[in-house]
Amino acid sequence: MNYWQRRQHQLNQQLEKDEVRLKKRLSSFYDTEFRKLDRQIAAYYKQYGTDHVIEYRRLLEELPLEDKRLLIEQMDVFAEKYPQYAHLMPVRESVYKLDRLEGLQYSIRMQQLEIGAVTQKEIREHLERQALRGGNAAAQAMGFGENFYSMNPDIVKQFVGAAWSNGENFSQKIWRNTEKLAGYLNTDIAQGFARGDSYEKLVRNLRQRFGKVSRKDAYRLIYTEGTYVMAEATMQPFIEDFEEYRLSTAADGKVCDLCRELAKKKFRIQDRQPGANFPPLHPWCRCTFTIEVEDWDKWIEDYENRHGNGQAEKTAGRLKDGGENAILDKTSDKEEVDVHIVGKIDKNIYKCITEDIVTDEVIITDERIQHIKERHPNDYERFYSYIPEIIENPDYIIEANKSNTAVILKEIEEQGEKFKLVLRLKVESDPVEYKNSVMTFWYIGDTTWRKSLKNKKILYKRE
Ligand SMILES: [Zn+2]
Repeated sequence: MNYWQRRQHQLNQQLEKDEVRLKKRLSSFYDTEFRKLDRQIAAYYKQYGTDHVIEYRRLLEELPLEDKRLLIEQMDVFAEKYPQYAHLMPVRESVYKLDRLEGLQYSIRMQQLEIGAVTQKEIREHLERQALRGGNAAAQAMGFGENFYSMNPDIVKQFVGAAWSNGENFSQKIWRNTEKLAGYLNTDIAQGFARGDSYEKLVRNLRQRFGKVSRKDAYRLIYTEGTYVMAEATMQPFIEDFEEYRLSTAADGKVCDLCRELAKKKFRIQDRQPGANFPPLHPWCRCTFTIEVEDWDKWIEDYENRHGNGQAEKTAGRLKDGGENAILDKTSDKEEVDVHIVGKIDKNIYKCITEDIVTDEVIITDERIQHIKERHPNDYERFYSYIPEIIENPDYIIEANKSNTAVILKEIEEQGEKFKLVLRLKVESDPVEYKNSVMTFWYIGDTTWRKSLKNKKILYKRE
C-alpha cells in the first residue's frame, strides 16, 4: 500500500463512522414521525369507529372544516420552511373537496414531504463533509497543503448534487423514495379501512412499511452516494497533472469481487464514468482508485517544467506503486483474496429462516466461485453482477433442506431472467470466522421456477 491508498483507507473509515452517526439520527427521527402517524390513526379510530373498527361509510363524508384548516396550515408551514420544495405539495384548492379518508391520506403525504426534506438536509450535509475531507486529503497528497479546498469548498461540494446514475441526483432519488412510500402508506390505509382492519392490525402493517422502506432506501443511498462523492472529490486535485487511474478494490483485506476484473485495466481520468469504470460500480460498492503513471521519471521532469515548485518527487513518492503491484501483492497472499464481499441483506427479510442472524454482510469464497463455474458453466461470468440485487431483494425465499439456509428465487425485472441462489446465514452458534455466504447460484427457466414454488414451502414473498 502506498501513501495514497493508506489515506483512502482512513477516509473510508471516517466516512463509515459518520454514516453510523447519520443513520442513528435518521432512525430515531423516523421513529418519532411514526409515532405522530400512529396518533393520527388512533384519533380516526376514536372519531369514526366503533369497537376498534372504522365505519368505512363515515370516511367518505366530507372532511370537517376544522381538519381542512389544519391541513392548510400544515401546508403553509411547510412552504415557509422549505420554499424550494413547495412545488412538490398537492394544490391547495383541492383540500376543500376532500372527504375524511382523503384528508388523512393528504396529511400522510404532507408528513412524508417533511420527512423527505429533513432526510435531504441531513444527507446533503453528510456528503458535503465527505467531499471536503476527501478533496483536501487528495490535495495534500499533491503537496498543496491540508486545507486546500477550505476557502473554495464549492469546487468539491458540487459533486454532492450531481446526477450520475440514471440521470438522477441523490435529491431526486430521495423524492422518488418519498413519493413511493407515501403511495404505499395511503394504499395500506385505504385497504385496511375497507377490510375493516382493527387499529392494532393497521398500525402494525404501517409500522412495517414505514420502518422498513424509509430506512432501507435511505441507508443504501447514503452508502452508494458516499462512495460516489468520495471518489469524485478525491479525483479533483489529480485531474490536471495525471492521465490515468486504476480501480482499487482492496478494503480491509476484503476484495470487491464485482470490481475485480475492472481493476486489472487502466482508464483515462477524463473517461471516468461512475457506475461503468469508476466508483461506485454497483450498490454497496466502496472501491477507490490509484493514480497510474507509465514512467515516473518522465512525469517528475514534466511536472517540474510546468510548475517548478520542487514538489514533483514527493508527490510521486506518495502515489507511486499503488495499483498493479498492490493487486499483485494481494493475489500472492491467499488469505486476502479468498473472500469477497458481494452485498448486504435486510435481516428482516431473512428472519423467516432464523431470528439469529449475526451480520448483514454477505460474502462469497473463491472455493464457491469455482464450484459455480464448474456446475453451471458461464452463469457466474455472465450473471455475478446480479448477486447483490438477488440477495437484497429476493422475490421468494423457499424452504431449504439445510438449517440456517435460504433458497432465493429472483426474477431480474428488466431482463426477465430468473435465478436461484442458496444463501447460508451466519448465526450466533457458528464459528467466528463464518460469514453469510453465497453457496451457489444459477440461471433457471420458467419450468424450474414454477416447480420450485409449487413443491417447496414458501417462507417469504416480496410484497
Ligand atoms: Zn466495487
